[in-house]
Amino acid sequence: MVDQNLMARLPKVDQVLAEPILGEALAELPRALVLEAVRTVLEELRAALLSGQAPMPQTLTAVAVAEAAGGRARESARPSLRRLINATGVVVHTNLGRSLLAEAAIQRLLELNRTYTNLEYDLAKGARGSRYVHVAGILREITGAEAALVVNNNAAAVYLCLQSLAEGREAIVSRGQLVEIGGSFRIPDVMAKSGAILKEVGATNKTHLRDYEKAITSNTGLLLKVHTSNFALVGFHQEVPLKDLRVLADRYHIPLMEDLGSGVLLDLARFGLPKEPTVQEALADGADLVTFSGDKLLGGPQAGIILGRTDFIERVRVNPLNRALRIDKLTLAALEATLELYRDPQRAAAEIPTLRMLATPYDELRRRAAALVRRLMALGLPRLKAITLEGQSRVGGGALPLAAPRTRLVQVSVEGMSPTRLEQALRAAPTPVIARLEDGRLLMDVRTLVGDDARVMVEILAGLAA
Ligand SMILES: *Cc1c(COP(=O)(O)O)cnc(C)c1O
Repeated sequence: MVDQNLMARLPKVDQVLAEPILGEALAELPRALVLEAVRTVLEELRAALLSGQAPMPQTLTAVAVAEAAGGRARESARPSLRRLINATGVVVHTNLGRSLLAEAAIQRLLELNRTYTNLEYDLAKGARGSRYVHVAGILREITGAEAALVVNNNAAAVYLCLQSLAEGREAIVSRGQLVEIGGSFRIPDVMAKSGAILKEVGATNKTHLRDYEKAITSNTGLLLKVHTSNFALVGFHQEVPLKDLRVLADRYHIPLMEDLGSGVLLDLARFGLPKEPTVQEALADGADLVTFSGDKLLGGPQAGIILGRTDFIERVRVNPLNRALRIDKLTLAALEATLELYRDPQRAAAEIPTLRMLATPYDELRRRAAALVRRLMALGLPRLKAITLEGQSRVGGGALPLAAPRTRLVQVSVEGMSPTRLEQALRAAPTPVIARLEDGRLLMDVRTLVGDDARVMVEILAGLAA
C-alpha cells in the first residue's frame, strides 16, 4: 500500500532549494548540479514510498532533503580521479597509479605545458621535426642501444614490434612465457591481433634451445622472449638464456626480441632486491629489440620504450599504427626529465620515488612507523590503538614477484569498529587511505607514504576515533 499521506508530505523542489542549509552548496557549485541532486533525492524518496517501503518521516522534511542533496551535489562535483594515500606497501601499485614522478619530471611537465615547444619542430632547420628525437638520444646514451622509439605504453610497444616484424610470419615463443599481465594483456592474444603467427615451443616448465631450432622454418619472422616478470617458477624449470637465442638468431638470420616488461635501468641488487635483468644486459646479450614500460621500475610516466637495431626500429617507426599509438607531449616531457636523472645512478636512486621507496633502509622505515604511532597516541583518544610490527612490502607492477623487502607496519584499531569496517571507513575518507587487511588486522605500511600522507592519515584516524 502506498502511503498517500507520506507522499503528500514530500517537499517541493523550490521548498528544498530555499532551505538555508543549501545556501553554501548553491554558492560553491553550479546551480544545475544542486538542482539535479535535489531532484534525485526526491525521486528516490518517491520510489521508496511507491514500492511500499516507508522512509523515516524525518527524511521527508525539506531540511533533510536539502542536507542529503547538498552532500550529493558535492559528491558529484568532486573530480573522479583524485589523490589517495597508498598505505599498502606495494610500490608500483597497478591500481593506484603505478609509479610516482620525480620532482624534476613534474617540474618539466608543468613548464613545457605552459608554453609552446619544439615538439615537432627542428630549430636548426626551421622546419618540421620529429617528436621521437627528444628522448632517443638520452635513451641511447644511458643504455648503449643503437636506436630508440617511444610509444604510448609497453602493450603498444610489443604489439607494434610484432606487427612490424612478424605480420603473417611465425614468432617463436617458449610455452612458459605466454604470460598474462594485468588489464587483460595476454601475449597470445596480442600476437593474434598483430597478425604474427604464434609458434609455441617447449613444455610449460622447460624449454631447450633445440626446441626453438626445430621450430624454425622459412616462414619464421621472429624469436621472442618474454620476461615472466609477474610470476615465478620454482623447481624443475628451465628457460633458454637470451645469449643462446642470439646464436640461433645469427645462424638463421631471424630478429630476436625481448619484452622485458619492467624496464630496469639500474641493478636492483644495490637495494638488496633479487636480480632482475636490466635493459642494458638484454641489449648486451644480443636482443635486436627490447621493449619495456616507462612507469614500472623505471619510475617515469606511462610509456612504452623500444630499443634496438636501427633498421628494425625504423620499420616500427614507419608503421602507420605507430601514429595511432604515439606518445604525447606530457609524457615526453616527464620521460626526458626522468631519464636525465639516470645519468647519475645515485641521483636516480634518491630522486625517483619508485627507486627511493625500494631503497629505503629498514631503520628509516622503523623510525617512520614509530613516529606515526607516537602521533596517533598523542591524540589521546581512548578508542584508538596503534602499534608497530615487522612485515614485508611488495614491489608490484608485475615485477619481482618473490621479492618481499622487510618493512615496518603500523597496526591500527579503533574500539567498537571491526578492522573490516575501519578499512572501509579509511577508504571512504575525503582523502581515501588504502590500507592492508591481513589476518583480521588493519595494517599500514609506511614505505609507500609520501609528502604529508602521515599527517593526513593522523587527521583522518582522529576523526574516526573521536
Ligand atoms: C607490464 C608488462 C607489459 C605491458 O606494459 P604496459 O606498460 O602496462 O602496457 C607487457 N609485457 C610485460 C612482460 C609486462 O610485464
